[in-house]
Amino acid sequence: MNQEIWKNRTLLIVDDRPDNLNILISYLEKYQFRIQVAKSGHEAINRLEVMYDRPEKRLPDLIIMDVMMPGMDGIKTCKEIKSKAEFADIPVIFLTALHNSKDKLKGFEAGGVDYITKPLHNQEVMARIKTHLTLRLQKEALELKALELEKAKLKTDAINDQLEQAIQEANSWAIEALNANDAKSQFLANMSHEIRTPMNGIIGMTHLLLGAELTEDQRSHVITIRNSGESLLHIINDILDLSKIEAGKLQLENISFDLRSTVGDVMKVLAYNALEKQLELNGIVHHDVPVVINGDPVRLRQIMMNLLGNAIKFTQKGEVCLDARVHQESEKNIWLIFKVTDTGIGIPEDKIESLFQNFSQVDASVTRKFGGTGLGLAISKQLAEMMDGEIGVNSKLGKGSEFWFTARFEIQADIQCRIPFPESFKNKKILIFDKLPNRRAVITEYLKLWQIEWDESEDSFDAYMKLVNGVQERAPYDICFWSVPQADKDIQLFVDTICQNTSLIHTTYVAISPQYMNIDNKLSQKKPFRFITLPCPITYHSLLNCFSKAFRTTKEQINTSKAITQDDNGILNVLVAEDNKVNQIIIQGILENHYHYHVHIVNNGREAITALQKKDFDLVFMDIQMPDVDGISATKLIRNPLTEVKKPDIPIIAMTAHTIPEEEKECMDAGMNAFVSKPINLDELKTAINQCV
Ligand code: ADP
Repeated sequence: MNQEIWKNRTLLIVDDRPDNLNILISYLEKYQFRIQVAKSGHEAINRLEVMYDRPEKRLPDLIIMDVMMPGMDGIKTCKEIKSKAEFADIPVIFLTALHNSKDKLKGFEAGGVDYITKPLHNQEVMARIKTHLTLRLQKEALELKALELEKAKLKTDAINDQLEQAIQEANSWAIEALNANDAKSQFLANMSHEIRTPMNGIIGMTHLLLGAELTEDQRSHVITIRNSGESLLHIINDILDLSKIEAGKLQLENISFDLRSTVGDVMKVLAYNALEKQLELNGIVHHDVPVVINGDPVRLRQIMMNLLGNAIKFTQKGEVCLDARVHQESEKNIWLIFKVTDTGIGIPEDKIESLFQNFSQVDASVTRKFGGTGLGLAISKQLAEMMDGEIGVNSKLGKGSEFWFTARFEIQADIQCRIPFPESFKNKKILIFDKLPNRRAVITEYLKLWQIEWDESEDSFDAYMKLVNGVQERAPYDICFWSVPQADKDIQLFVDTICQNTSLIHTTYVAISPQYMNIDNKLSQKKPFRFITLPCPITYHSLLNCFSKAFRTTKEQINTSKAITQDDNGILNVLVAEDNKVNQIIIQGILENHYHYHVHIVNNGREAITALQKKDFDLVFMDIQMPDVDGISATKLIRNPLTEVKKPDIPIIAMTAHTIPEEEKECMDAGMNAFVSKPINLDELKTAINQCV
């Protein structure tokens, strides 16, 4: 065994006989023990007390005690030692004569741990001493371990307590945070509503004031109030939306709508902002996008408005374009991808990642040029994700940006998704002369949708030659779309060139021009040449209207025989009562596109009666099954003079999905004039209309 472990271990030898002491010391010498000697029991106890009183309180590791001593013998001394708590722990080995087994027993009873028999033998002495010292060392080590364990346990308990407390605090914070978040959303919703109500009053009043006679100064002040009010309202709406989205309270609608009309509305709203900066603004909807899709048109419009609004805001010169096309398709769903491109300031690469976070702006400096809250993109991202889509951007600093997003919509396989283009518009020769590819694309995607062919030209000379060749080949163009350059003298040049060649008189020239140019007057002086204008940005409805105008040119194309009480333009005012949104879009499309009627839609019989009491209509299309007041009851009420509609004898055409003879009879009995079944067949519709008007 390693001798080092005994070094400095203290042994107390208690013996009155010097020969014994000397022998023991001689055995122990080489082990570097610290040896203390006491010649009697009393001395031994005194020595222990002295050792204990020293600051280091270092007591012997082992006591070797002779049993036979004068005065207090070893057994008594051991008892005395064991009776004191501070010494009780020290192991005592007795020295006794081999034969004295009584002593041995007494010694154990007194608390001794072992015996060394006399006469002493080196090996026995050392074996016993080492054994007990080793036990002592192991006991010490165990005690130390136990102490460490106790300490570690205390530490763990303390940490557990802390953790427990932290969990409790975290839980109560989480509850507080949830309550606070709910309260925040509720507060924001209430506040926004409270602020919005007076804001609407303020803005409404500015509109009234602007209609009154004002000095130039007053007008400019009112416009400033209106503009500030509108931007404040915009910010409030953004904050409200964000708080609603964060509180999970924003629900998307799922209704049928016509994407082309939605894009058209967005174009109309933003046209003025684009015009102010003389930017080209176009909205292309690719021809393979279905006419009717199901989704939330209001929230879709919001994303488009945000992206297009930004594109216009951050572009000084050039073009802003929205492009909507099919991205992916399944049996019941269609994913569309919308891209908004601009030729504006672009975005630095390192800023792109954070763009879609709340309140993030590329230029957050106090001196920033462009207003805004940094919420538009964050809201757009959340909305796109709610529509099962994604949002992203590609941008080049100084060159422009392309923001894109995808969204999922439902499609209905069983409904007619393509509104047919009027037969009379087909087989016409169309020429599109425009330098701008995106503006040509707006028109050509509609022509593809309606399956109409066309020629294109980017250059004025080429366009002119195409027109001339058409005449020479006895196949003149029916319509020439022509984009009006912004400088006035260019208009003059093109118009003069055309008008000098009387053979080109058979074509209708459609001038695509920004509304502010007001060129109608100039062009109308060019009679007998026919110039009409198509305002940009071009929308689905403005293009349809333009076709209608163009083909109402010649007398034979206006079917005056059909007119009853037509308005000034020879067009019927038609009321359609129909509760299904898809059917509304389809019947409106057919009546507007085929018959050029003015169509007013209501959702049930009650609304139909109210409309007929207020306004002069010429014809009613009445669905049979409707909520609230159905078609049969509504017809009976219309025919009843007490209901006081403007024309109680107005022709009413029933629309129904059932084609059972009893129902047709019921309709006729109620006072209806004709009957069409759904889905609507164009020939059947024509017959019904002819029957009535
Ligand atoms: P806002 O426009 O109200 O500041 P947004 O969330 O809509 O907030 O846009 C955040 C930031 O993204 C804008 O402040 C601008 O720095 C940058 N950004 C957005 N759109 C464009 C764009 N078309 N061209 C350049 N920067 C843009």
